Amino acid sequence: AETTGTVDYFNIDDLLTEEHKLVRHTMRDFVRREILPDIERWAQEAYFPKEIVQKFGEVGAFGPTIPEAYGGGGLDYISYGIIMQEIERGDSGMRSTASVQGSLVMYPIYEYGSEEQRNKYLPKLASGELLGCFGLTEPDFGSNPAGMLTNIKDKGDYYLLNGSKMWISNSPACDLAIVWAKNEEGRIKGLIVERGMEGFSTPEIHNKWSLRASTTGELVFEDVRVPKENLLPNVEGLRGPLGCLDSARYGIAWGAIGAAIDCYESARSYALQRIQFDKPIASFQLIQKKLAEMLTEITKAQLMVWRLGVLKNEGRASTQQISMAKRNSVEIALNIAREARQIHGGMGITGEYPIMRHMMNLESVITYEGTHDIHLLITGADITGIPAFK
Ligand code: FAD
Repeated sequence: AETTGTVDYFNIDDLLTEEHKLVRHTMRDFVRREILPDIERWAQEAYFPKEIVQKFGEVGAFGPTIPEAYGGGGLDYISYGIIMQEIERGDSGMRSTASVQGSLVMYPIYEYGSEEQRNKYLPKLASGELLGCFGLTEPDFGSNPAGMLTNIKDKGDYYLLNGSKMWISNSPACDLAIVWAKNEEGRIKGLIVERGMEGFSTPEIHNKWSLRASTTGELVFEDVRVPKENLLPNVEGLRGPLGCLDSARYGIAWGAIGAAIDCYESARSYALQRIQFDKPIASFQLIQKKLAEMLTEITKAQLMVWRLGVLKNEGRASTQQISMAKRNSVEIALNIAREARQIHGGMGITGEYPIMRHMMNLESVITYEGTHDIHLLITGADITGIPAFK
């Protein structure tokens, strides 16, 4: 573990290819250079570093599984997971920027878009020349997106778009938005809405205590004329956004473990250095219990996401399996952040250590992309055949 700098208690590295390890090395180095030196200040100042978008593009963090012909990385899903994990070791907000661009913007254009749309947008999204966002949630429809009110009307040579979206990551800084809206028959369709279209605005949501280095906002559509060629032709219904969410949640299942690892490593090293009662606090059984349980939970989660990655590569990972892994990884990460905070004592609440920032970030991660309880009920529905949330 010392040589790779990886928490790897069960030698999961043996299950990785040389390419996976190279991807990890590259991303870890990137995060160390481009994110870690400034992230605490960005978070404290609630500043979204727009320049990170192009840097993410250069290092290949956007759409790593999209084929190279469209500017993507052509990598497998384990590589994608590793990239998310390394970014989230740095910060969940930074990982959110990359998740949205790859899984919620590039993925739908690749999977549901026309060849013209793929060629027009994907290379620029991959390189970071363009930043996208994903508008599904509305003020009155979060866990129940099927109720959405945002709508389009067919006006012959364009669609007239009206409505609003809420809690949209990247929205204030975006160049384009993937927007889910109902047509006149009440069927959900996806559209590519571009900044500059008249009637389209992206007000920022201020005063978040969480994901402070990620920018979040609304999307407001007032009689926006969206050209017909901006409709995603190959999908209809909730299946469209839910397919994107499967991909993003898969990345979060890996990513949250990154935040957990960072908290664990910080807690372990602090416990070995901090002296109380003439001994390092690491010598006390209660501290050892916390550290031992953290490592156990990280290891269990690592095994789960590795297996999920194999299934995903084989096209066999189910929505329900992804729900379980997302839920588990975020839960263990949040628990580990809280325990790590205690190990750091008073220092744990300061920006000297990453703990409190991870903890606050994870309070969003546990709610977005399907809340913790909704994911539990997805498992419940799978076990019993009875959906309890409808
Ligand atoms: P609600 O759906 O109102 O839920 C409130 C509570 O009720 C939760 O605890 C929930 O579990 C519970 N609940 C609801 N229904 C049931 C039920 N049937 N049974 C049991 N319990 C239930 N959305 C996007 O579209 N794009 C984005 O980029 C995006 N980014 C986000 C970034 C941040 C920082 C945050 C906080 C949110 C983001 N979201 C985004 C929205 C996010 O996905 C929603 O917040 C989430 O789906 C929950 O919706 P809600 O907040 O309306 O909560």
